[in-house]
Amino acid sequence: MTQATKTYEEGNIFAKMLKGEVPCHKVYEDDKTLAFMDIMPQAKGHVLVIPKQQAVELSDLEPEYASAVFMTAKKVLQAQRQVFERDGIIQMQLNGSEAGQTVFHYHVHLIPSNIHELGKHAVTMADQDELAEQAKQLAAIINA
Ligand code: AMP
Repeated sequence: MTQATKTYEEGNIFAKMLKGEVPCHKVYEDDKTLAFMDIMPQAKGHVLVIPKQQAVELSDLEPEYASAVFMTAKKVLQAQRQVFERDGIIQMQLNGSEAGQTVFHYHVHLIPSNIHELGKHAVTMADQDELAEQAKQLAAIINA
């Protein structure tokens, strides 16, 4: 398997989230994945899905975690369509700083939007109360 050019660093923000050292607005969790609201959303309802594996990017991802991430992403996408009443959900994933990756723990972005309307990447902080409410609504549908 081709390896990422960057070594996994345990101090990254998503690793801290998985260890419970940093809070997040959790949408869903199972034994292999965690889904939570993006703190600087590119559109309302922007969710990130991460594996509980130390993978920097796609080339590191083990098949069982790749499968688990996509199963979780499907659950989130279906819930986003209901909560945000948008059919269009952009699935995005950046590999390497040249691509614009800023957090070096593999993650899939799920963004209820249209490619021509997409906001800037990781620029504007969202209101924490709004993120908490959105996470609650998504979780309620996924866990129903
Ligand atoms: P990328 O540039 O693809 O690595 O995306 C990293 C994403 O993580 C960006 O969309 C950021 O807004 C988001 N992000 C960074 N820190 C946090 C955090 N503490 N909680 C939730 N999302 C975050």
